[in-house]
Amino acid sequence: MSLENIDFFELVKRVDTDKMGDFIKYDREKCNGCGLCAMVCSFGLWAVKQNKAKLAARYQELCLECGACAEICEPGAIDFSYPAGGTGVVIEYG
Ligand code: SF4
Ligand code: SF4
Repeated sequence: MSLENIDFFELVKRVDTDKMGDFIKYDREKCNGCGLCAMVCSFGLWAVKQNKAKLAARYQELCLECGACAEICEPGAIDFSYPAGGTGVVIEYG
């Protein structure tokens, strides 16, 4: 099977989302409103209004745990850590 034929989202399962906890933390005071987090999030989980970012309230159910939002945030307003072991995204292939 070639990579082009793989539906990535078919491979992604989420486990025990109610036990994942708050694995993305956001510091509003550090945010400069640049909007980069909203640009890189494939799921549109960030929005910027009045020069401040806001994370979707139910982000645990959709977040792919890529960490891109935290990586691109220059002022360090976003703190990402993987959810507790055994919870969150599981990718099954083969
Ligand atoms: S990338 Fe960081 S500084 Fe820029 S809008 Fe998002 S949270 Fe704010
Ligand atoms: S970790 Fe990835 S999918 Fe989750 S909110 Fe950040 S950019 Fe979006």
